[in-house]
Amino acid sequence: MKKQNIVLYIGHTYDLAYFYRLIPLINKNNNYKITPNKSNKLEKLKIAISNIKNCELKKNASQMVFSDGNPKAKIMLVGEGPGANEDKEGIPFVGRAGILLDKMLAAINLDRKKVYISNIVNYRPPENRKPTEEEIKRYLPFITEHIEIISPKILILLGSTAMNALVGNDSVISKVRGKWIEKQIGNCKISTIVTFHPAFLMRQPAQKKLSWIDLKMIRDKKSKLNI
Ligand code: URA
Repeated sequence: MKKQNIVLYIGHTYDLAYFYRLIPLINKNNNYKITPNKSNKLEKLKIAISNIKNCELKKNASQMVFSDGNPKAKIMLVGEGPGANEDKEGIPFVGRAGILLDKMLAAINLDRKKVYISNIVNYRPPENRKPTEEEIKRYLPFITEHIEIISPKILILLGSTAMNALVGNDSVISKVRGKWIEKQIGNCKISTIVTFHPAFLMRQPAQKKLSWIDLKMIRDKKSKLNI
């Protein structure tokens, strides 16, 4: 009874199980001892993003969705942009696609404490539309810097928006997925892989077969790199 009251006080309309799932995420900053240098860089980046002007995305969103997971992780995932649930919670991948993403990670013995997650754009596109080319161009320096600060050994690009932004506009996901690309971002050389976005997999479950191949490649690379 008492627990249900807590849910009411903070105004969530989700069920209790959902609320409890969020507790470790809300506490995330207390759990990771990152260097002051990294912490300052992440804070500065957050401020730079929040200072963006004349942005249709920012105007329509309720808040910035910066990241989730462990800033010390050696594996970073990049999605497209926040949806309605993410906009409400301020945390990437907490809606249905996020639940599938968690299952995909669990299948290769990963979870949000072992990875770091962000998106190409940090504010929810209205009506869940795709971010425009122009918006992607504006946010590209931010996600590039974000990757540089985290400096992962493995970068997982979820879906074609992340692939087009970070690998190139002429890439086609059906051809590029499931291959390692050695990508130089700032000072970091990063083993990068493109795989299907969980939201796409919910619409096309038959593609989970290919997604599983990609996940196994990530699992193998992780053990090869001793991560
Ligand atoms: N889809 C994304 O690409 N990112 C999110 O954070 C949620 C859904």
